[in-house]
Amino acid sequence: DLILFWHRRDLRILDNLGLTAATEQTTKVVGLFCLDPNILDRDDVAPARVTYMIGCLQELQESYQNLGSQLIIIQGEPEKAIPQLAQALKAKAVYWNRDVEPYSKNRDRNVTATLNEKGIEISTVWDQLLHAPGEILTKSSDSPYKVYTPFWRSWIGQDKQSVTPEIKQLAGLNKTELETASQVGAIALPTAKELGYEWEYPLLLAPGETSAKEKLEEFCDRTIYSYDEERNFPYVDGTSQLSAALKFGVIGIRTVWQATVDLAENCRSDEAKNGVVTWQKELAWREFYQHCLFFFPELAEGAYRDEFKDFPWENDKTKFQAWCEGKTGYPIVDAAMRQLNESGWMHNRCRMIVASFLTKDLIIDWRWGEKYFMQKLFDGDLSANNGGWQWSASSGMDPKPLRIFNPASQTAKFDQDGDYIRQWLPEISSMDTEYLVTGKIPELERASYDYPQPIVDHKVQQRKFKELYKQQKN
Ligand code: FAD
Repeated sequence: DLILFWHRRDLRILDNLGLTAATEQTTKVVGLFCLDPNILDRDDVAPARVTYMIGCLQELQESYQNLGSQLIIIQGEPEKAIPQLAQALKAKAVYWNRDVEPYSKNRDRNVTATLNEKGIEISTVWDQLLHAPGEILTKSSDSPYKVYTPFWRSWIGQDKQSVTPEIKQLAGLNKTELETASQVGAIALPTAKELGYEWEYPLLLAPGETSAKEKLEEFCDRTIYSYDEERNFPYVDGTSQLSAALKFGVIGIRTVWQATVDLAENCRSDEAKNGVVTWQKELAWREFYQHCLFFFPELAEGAYRDEFKDFPWENDKTKFQAWCEGKTGYPIVDAAMRQLNESGWMHNRCRMIVASFLTKDLIIDWRWGEKYFMQKLFDGDLSANNGGWQWSASSGMDPKPLRIFNPASQTAKFDQDGDYIRQWLPEISSMDTEYLVTGKIPELERASYDYPQPIVDHKVQQRKFKELYKQQKN
């Protein structure tokens, strides 16, 4: 009996709950990936993300081959293409791991219905989270948490699953079956360029399971111990840089968790222990936002809080363009946007700074920023990105409404020598550190470096934003 395992955001063999479940039924398990036009033809797809994804699929194909099976690639509407392939191959069942995104939930319902009509079984499990939606609920009313801290307390207190045993061997399709697969649409894996996406810069994390595992080991050997302190400094490589691997499930979340549990038990200092626990808290943020999206899919459409549902955003297109290009005249904002545009990634501290700047200083709808991030980030992920933007805009579930970051004081705290600014804005790297940090650059100096005038005055805009907010609230 053949089982097709449909990979989506779990581009790996190791520690994959759905795939393991399939191999418990039969050794004849063949991987499947569907290039879905509903995702790939959207206008918020980042070339860096597609490049990373294709690289991961390449390695996954090799892994299947090494195990004696194949990863079949098809292209088209999943609800048509997958049942058609499964039927042609006389598959007994299609297995996959579940997802929290509104589009995925709907797609999966449709694929399930078509497979069922054809008499093909389906089986699904939760794999991408340590705790599936519904496992972490409030004690008082058995409902999903809307605030992070109590969610974390409950989340950390519960037992977590262990890493699944390694899959040693599989059986794949024979020659005739492979021919049948190509007759119903199986194709060679295209390059990102063939899909219409070109990315010219290096990726922060090389694609594939091997590189993600190495990155985790490297991080857990050293950087994690000082994470509590160093994660805030954008010039330091103080974070794991695993976000894209976690987004695409290139590394199993149980593998990641296990690495931290072992460390937390053996820390020699409080500082080291704080590093490990603070990092675990980030993993919980990831799960919190996924649970929120699962239970409140309306978050993907717009503001959660009423006072932001009809907010009079100014939405000035010229200012938005300056923000996108890193030409606001605020060095920390411009450096960060340059990092995004030229690496497909941005340090978390800077994501918060530029998001605050877009919403509170430029008074531009956070959804414009959310979309721009998706168009650039190689770790772009609906739940984390939407969560981050709604947090920064103050429109989300978070109870603290008016969070406004001052670019100068953020720089003074987190890039006090201007190292990050110099790295990403080389054209002004020889300016005085004080100018870079305070952003108070004399006009002549700006002109001689051809660096733009500030497009807004932070103090003025801050007052304006607060005023608008007050009006909305009343
Ligand atoms: P680490 O600091 O090593 O953290 C470990 C992992 O925890 C991350 O890889 C990520 O999976 C998770 N994580 C950490 N912080 C958060 C968080 N605040 N919310 C959710 N998960 C978190 N993260 C994304 O993965 N994709 C996005 O599209 C995204 N957009 C964001 C937009 C804004 C406006 C903000 C403020 C944050 C956004 N984040 C997003 C969260 C965070 O910035 C990144 O996860 C982090 O910078 C990735 O770097 P890292 O892997 O080195 O993280």
